Amino acid sequence: MPDNRTVRQFLQQLKSAGVSHLPLVRLAAAQPSAFRKSRKPGKSEERLAANVAPPKPAVAVASQPKSITRPAAEAETVALLQQTFASPEEKESGLSQLASLVARCQRCTELANTRRQTVFGVGNPDARIMFIGEAPGADEDRVGEPFVGAAGQLLDKIIIASGLKREDLYICNILRCRPPGNRNPLPQETTNCREYLDGQIQIVKPDYIICWGTVAAQNLLGEKSSVGRMRGRFMKHGDAKVLCTYHPSYLLRNPSAKKMVWEDMQFFMAELESDQA
Ligand code: URA
Repeated sequence: MPDNRTVRQFLQQLKSAGVSHLPLVRLAAAQPSAFRKSRKPGKSEERLAANVAPPKPAVAVASQPKSITRPAAEAETVALLQQTFASPEEKESGLSQLASLVARCQRCTELANTRRQTVFGVGNPDARIMFIGEAPGADEDRVGEPFVGAAGQLLDKIIIASGLKREDLYICNILRCRPPGNRNPLPQETTNCREYLDGQIQIVKPDYIICWGTVAAQNLLGEKSSVGRMRGRFMKHGDAKVLCTYHPSYLLRNPSAKKMVWEDMQFFMAELESDQA
């Protein structure tokens, strides 16, 4: 450690150079070079001199970005999902049991602390068509149902214009809690919530899934492409055919994209009709 006189001199030099405030640093971790005395070479310098590679750390180093970890499956969810859900009644009961497990979820601390309630899903438990959105917004957080706000009202218009009915559908989101300020879901949050989305898909067993927006499309399918590149064709998730299109909130900001969603819905309805024929 430098003695007091050296410290005083160093501070005086800084003051005369116009420095009046210094950031708080741990001296042991980051000493100003003026304080460094000649010292024994550290292990890394010895290794460098001897051209020896440093040993690999056994665990992730704290300063590295945190990796995404899939939470351990919940015993009660696993037990629930081992059942079969064949009849509409079994599906309804399965979904309501899963919704109760979701309601007490604390996996995402920030979301659990800021939500009013979880927003699980709504609609026909035996629907052939599942809609997947991104995450609840303020209105959904207040009401407890997906797509009840401005985006939901536009979605309702799209449903009616396409010739579908709400009772044809089961609607849910990638996340079951509202991200504060409607920010995008974080990768760890979508990973935490995946067990529940998978559970909903397993119980409802839809033949078709429509992903509304990039977050839904990329997360469900594990893709990195934009929705603009994924739309216009069917993709697969398990046994379900998946169509991706723009999110209604995007349409509210960019009305010119409505044309493309209309094309996607017509493409979808043609497939649905040929499948029912
Ligand atoms: N946006 C979504 O993606 N989901 C909702 O439930 C509401 C708005």
